[in-house]
Amino acid sequence: MSSRVLTDFDLLLPGSLEEALEILDRERGAVTVLSGGTDLLVMMKAGFEADKVMSLALLGDLNRLEFDSATGLRIGARTTLAQLVDSPEVRQHYPALWQSARIFATPQLRNTATVVGNLLRGSPAGDCSAAVAALGGTLVMATAGGGRREIDIDDLWVSYGVTARADNELAVELRLPAPDSGTASAFKRLTRVNEDLAKLNVAVCLQMDGDTCKSARFAMGCVAPTMIRLPAAEAIVQGAKVDDETLARAAEAVQQDISPIDDKRSTAEYRRSVAGVYLKRAVQQACGFA
Ligand SMILES: Cc1cc2nc3c(=O)[nH]c(=O)nc-3n(C[C@H](O)[C@H](O)[C@H](O)COP(=O)(O)OP(=O)(O)OC[C@H]3O[C@@H](n4cnc5c(N)ncnc54)[C@H](O)[C@@H]3O)c2cc1C
Repeated sequence: MSSRVLTDFDLLLPGSLEEALEILDRERGAVTVLSGGTDLLVMMKAGFEADKVMSLALLGDLNRLEFDSATGLRIGARTTLAQLVDSPEVRQHYPALWQSARIFATPQLRNTATVVGNLLRGSPAGDCSAAVAALGGTLVMATAGGGRREIDIDDLWVSYGVTARADNELAVELRLPAPDSGTASAFKRLTRVNEDLAKLNVAVCLQMDGDTCKSARFAMGCVAPTMIRLPAAEAIVQGAKVDDETLARAAEAVQQDISPIDDKRSTAEYRRSVAGVYLKRAVQQACGFA
């Protein structure tokens, strides 16, 4: 049942990464991580029980955004959507991610919400999640004692709201691959009003050789219990000339990839009817046809 009042909880405020990892190791699942809090606090008001909440507010080292043309983009776990929007490198080299951050909610939200929090909420509607799923990348997890594990973005979402993160792990950084000269990407979403979560979102990333697509990663949200790739549609475009005929076939193939449901934001029928159109528009936008 929804309430506007938070129940009592203990707030833990580690001053270093080591301290945060020790807390997670000691408490083994009894502590919930709070980053921007724009998902977690809403969930807690709606009844999600978190007796101990560990805030990352004092971990300034996790707030970084670094681009290197050889190794790619490193996004610290405390990096906000606003920082992405302000980055010329993200805008130029990762348009899908920049566009997903640019349309995200409101300026207040973008100043607080983090990209990594968007991924770890495990929502099929996450806008940055769609972009990252299309761009590919890994999420770096840290554990006490210096342990590190990289989770491929394709393996991150297990089921609705559930990720591959273990209880004692803290996500410290998201890594996106370096784009090459033929990389083209774009993001699109459909909402009732801009402040709403998506009825449907889509992100695409294509490696182009002239007008032929060498490889493609397509991701779509709100059409399955988790954010998903679109393998049937990707297979149509890979190795093909990206023209109207290919895009029409890819738009049709999306129907094999998705399994939308009715919920408070839209109906399964509507989502099915717009999925192919939005995929086509995203590819056109990425390739500069739109
Ligand atoms: C009014 C409003 C509008 C919104 N609009 C949008 C929108 O347009 N698009 C969209 O996609 N979302 C939207 N959201 C949802 C939310 O803002 C995003 O999902 C946001 O990116 C979450 O980031 P956060 O830092 O606030 O995460 P938090 O709420 O702090 O955490 C989210 C989850 O991730 C876990 N977590 C966070 N960081 C770590 C870490 N480093 N290691 C381990 N676990 C971690 C938390 O434990 C929690 O389970 C909206 C929310 C609100 C309230």
